[in-house]
Amino acid sequence: MNIILFGPPGAGKGTQAARITEEHGWPQLSTGDMLRAAVAAGTEVGQKAKAIMERGDLVPDEVVVGIISDRIDEPDCKKGFILDGFPRNIPQAEALDKMLKQKGLNLDAVIEIRVDDSILIDRIKTRIAESTQARADDNVETLTNRLEVYHAQTAPLLPYYEKQGKLKTVDGMGAIDEVTAAIRDVLKTPL
Ligand code: AMP
Repeated sequence: MNIILFGPPGAGKGTQAARITEEHGWPQLSTGDMLRAAVAAGTEVGQKAKAIMERGDLVPDEVVVGIISDRIDEPDCKKGFILDGFPRNIPQAEALDKMLKQKGLNLDAVIEIRVDDSILIDRIKTRIAESTQARADDNVETLTNRLEVYHAQTAPLLPYYEKQGKLKTVDGMGAIDEVTAAIRDVLKTPL
């Protein structure tokens, strides 16, 4: 299956994607991870993305669309893939629809992990306190901006996918195992 794991920063998309990968073998395609790798490697894309990511803004659409298109062409994506952190706005979603059509592929489901903002802020604070190598964008100021960007630019994708009949929502506020179980149920249920 080709799916999108959707949700605000700190919703647990990365954690849940890793579990789905383990269960089904579909690779996790995280634009955030790919961009962080590009920053660490000092590539041209990384140099462009660094300051934008530190502010919590979105890097240009053409950059992430290009990265995802190339990644989907790799052989391990033939059995399916999990998009994590992409698309982040309507133009990216439209580009994804077009790209998949050109590649002869389908999007099977969009799984929204729903979490309230107040819980997200608490989670990120814990992540900062517990981590020895906190991410450059793991600070309350950047998170606040990332949440604003999420509500302004990313949340409008919910009605976009609802209209396509692809949206499935799970409660992301329970324990990690409960969220995994809810996602597992959704993946079993035909749309
Ligand atoms: P994430 O790890 O998904 O939270 O992404 C970390 C940061 O990478 C975001 O705050 C953005 O600056 C950038 N980023 C990741 N995915 C995208 C995307 N699809 N479009 C634009 N920027 C992105």
